[in-house]
Amino acid sequence: MKFEAHRKETIVLNPMKDMARRSIPSEIRKDPLTGRTARICHFMKLRWEKPDFGAMVSGTEQTCPFCPEKVMQITPCFPEEILPQGRLTAGDMVLFPNIAPYDSLGAVATMGAQHYIPMLEFTAERISGAFRLARAFFQRIEEIDHPESVYHIINWNYMPPAGSSLIHAHLQVFASSSAPNLMREELEAARRYRQRKGTNYWDDLVAHEISEGQRFLGSIGRINWFTSYAPMGVAGDVLAVADKASSTLELSDEDLDDIADGLTRVMAAYDKMGIFSFNMNFFTGAKGDDFTRFHLLFSPRTFFNQSLGTPDIGALRNLFNETLCMAFPEEINSLLKPDFER
Ligand SMILES: [Zn+2]
Repeated sequence: MKFEAHRKETIVLNPMKDMARRSIPSEIRKDPLTGRTARICHFMKLRWEKPDFGAMVSGTEQTCPFCPEKVMQITPCFPEEILPQGRLTAGDMVLFPNIAPYDSLGAVATMGAQHYIPMLEFTAERISGAFRLARAFFQRIEEIDHPESVYHIINWNYMPPAGSSLIHAHLQVFASSSAPNLMREELEAARRYRQRKGTNYWDDLVAHEISEGQRFLGSIGRINWFTSYAPMGVAGDVLAVADKASSTLELSDEDLDDIADGLTRVMAAYDKMGIFSFNMNFFTGAKGDDFTRFHLLFSPRTFFNQSLGTPDIGALRNLFNETLCMAFPEEINSLLKPDFER
């Protein structure tokens, strides 16, 4: 396993200081599994101003399709061959078909009746409950042997900077026989790694990160947390890898509780930087893909310019899929670690 980094230096002349030379460092890192490159550059203090949440949220409940008075009236139902009861519920959470599906089997799960849940008010129980509801849907389509029941994916876009068009917290829940790009590249690379080395890349990565320590955050049950070596988020990414389990359907209730516990820690830590939005994706193998391990990626999102609504993704990321992170992941680790030690 290679952790490659190429240091670069930019020289500029400062006209305010007699054209004094100034050196600006940057670094290009390679993801040890896929070779995907990530740039560590634009160094700045990871500190953002939070918006006026009252103004952002105010009035959005009036047209919200996920609020309790509407969700059971206007959200669609699955046909009986998929789900005889139409929708799944658990407490105040509801799962129903995604009216804007990306595949033949897409669902949305609301994370409760409350319209706006601030990031710090998510309890581990609520997150775990929503994951269990999604898993119940996955178990159902697995039971009926649906042809798309191959990769079982939960994505979470929390708040508008992360791509959510609604304030009301919800998960994207879908199963597909077609692995999304980065997941597929990882699966293919992990399969090759296993063929070449005879070991599981993710097990090796976890062992390396625990012994090396600079990016390791902690283990909760059999879920291991660390900052990603070649992150995609401008404020780094957090990676959580399961011991032994290779797919979403192999996760136990306890695993889901432990994942939810870790997520609340990560959310608390990023909140201190002024981050209030994130993406979280499950990365799963198919049944029997023993060359991989279930993992999830948490990536904080922000506006580069709040008043203009400038997203943190521009041409470099959008069209080249080349990412930039504004601090070293090892430094970001030290900002997150206190929340894993409490
Ligand atoms: Zn709502």
